[in-house]
Amino acid sequence: MNETNRPAASLRVAIAGAGPAGFYAADFLLKAGASVDMFERLPAPFGLVRYGVAPDHQKIKRVSAAFERTASLPGFGYYGNVEVGRDVSVEELLSDYDQLLLAIGSAGDRQLGIEGEDLAGSVAATSFVGWYNGHPDFVDQSFELGGERAVIVGMGNVALDVARILVRDPAELAPTDIADHALSALQKSSVREVVLVGRRGPAQAAFDQGELEDIADLAGVEVLVEKGMSFEEPAELSPAARRNLEYLRALPTEPGKKSRALLRLRFLAAPHRIVGEGGRVTGLEWEKTELVQRPDGSVGASGTGVFAVEPGGLVVRSIGYRGRPMPGLPFDRGRSVVPNQGGRVSESERPFPSCYVVGWIKRGPVGLLGTNKQDARETVDAMLADWKAAGRGSREPGRVLGLLNERKLRIVRYPDWQRIDQAERDAGAQAGKVRQKLYSVKDMLALLDPS
Ligand code: NAP
Repeated sequence: MNETNRPAASLRVAIAGAGPAGFYAADFLLKAGASVDMFERLPAPFGLVRYGVAPDHQKIKRVSAAFERTASLPGFGYYGNVEVGRDVSVEELLSDYDQLLLAIGSAGDRQLGIEGEDLAGSVAATSFVGWYNGHPDFVDQSFELGGERAVIVGMGNVALDVARILVRDPAELAPTDIADHALSALQKSSVREVVLVGRRGPAQAAFDQGELEDIADLAGVEVLVEKGMSFEEPAELSPAARRNLEYLRALPTEPGKKSRALLRLRFLAAPHRIVGEGGRVTGLEWEKTELVQRPDGSVGASGTGVFAVEPGGLVVRSIGYRGRPMPGLPFDRGRSVVPNQGGRVSESERPFPSCYVVGWIKRGPVGLLGTNKQDARETVDAMLADWKAAGRGSREPGRVLGLLNERKLRIVRYPDWQRIDQAERDAGAQAGKVRQKLYSVKDMLALLDPS
């Protein structure tokens, strides 16, 4: 066959990662006629939809119905419980498939780099989120919920998710797919007040106004903003920031009614040190900041030398996720992404032919689920254009499957996942929940292969 203008129908793609970005890309590729094999580290697909989106946000989780439709398209193959970079290498995949698309997200957490971060009770939001969502990596964790106050560093939507789970009446969480271990810990929790600490001002808050309003609307919960905050409008303000500012301006500074739980917002406070006693967190020392104009025109925060402590038995850092490098591909540690141009992997102008990225590992840990659709469109357009322009030489289709079989991995195929899914839904129906998740890889595999 001519090496140019190949039809997409002859294109075989391996996708690493079965989260939203991988599924949106798979959908575009399959509909263009390509075939797609998707490799996922865990037995269960859907990434952050299953393990990131909060259990009381079931409407958002419904996007997985679209991914299920994608998985039913001809040419789709699912290989769960197979980790690219550990069970099969980038090089091996490239020896079999025409193109490799990395959709592995940003599984790590960012550190504050301040004193006291290692104390018991100082945790990453990523762990807390994984824990309440029954992610196999976090089921064995426990969190200090015995104190009356918890402090969360960061003003993003993840910080609000964590805050909402902490202040919400656990009875409202019970019918969701929240992990049992988290529900029972939250039922025993003494946390009555959660303080969100943001280093910049109200106009720079990263959360969405609607997410904050959802918390204020919860029964028995009040949202307060610290006294004396200025809500001056900067000259340039995005519509989202304007909505935030208008909403924040109207919030009370003191509890007005007898509330079961409070969420307090403290702006212009940079984390300085996590304080503790006997190896356990007792609070967060913060430094008052003032806003400054950075050389690039953006707004930064500068310390004023005034310090105070926000007491709390739990300090959650919710300051963003971090991507992890993939052996065999370049990595930009500063941005924690695989360097790329419009989805084509390339480092300092050096291309990595046939390697592509999509989602958070491409653009960093920002954006809503839907952002991945547009992002996938860009990468898939590049993949299809490259394939048409110059397909590569001969491949060894089937080599990877041979290797995986030799390595005696228990591959979870899509029908296997559907059995797990059905078993979880059935158990959920019996327990009066949306779904009763299986929390460990071992339990999922035991369901498939009872001994
Ligand atoms: P994010 O939106 O980037 O927010 C991170 C927060 O951490 C910001 O307030 C940031 O402040 C702060 N921060 C970063 N480094 C810090 C440091 N060293 N010290 C103090 N504060 C620091 O990240 P995210 O909340 O993890 O969310 C990730 C993405 O997922 C976002 O796009 C979010 O919208 C999305 N998401 C959406 C939903 C939803 O729609 N329900 C739920 C969860 C997540 P600065 O602004 O000053 O840097």
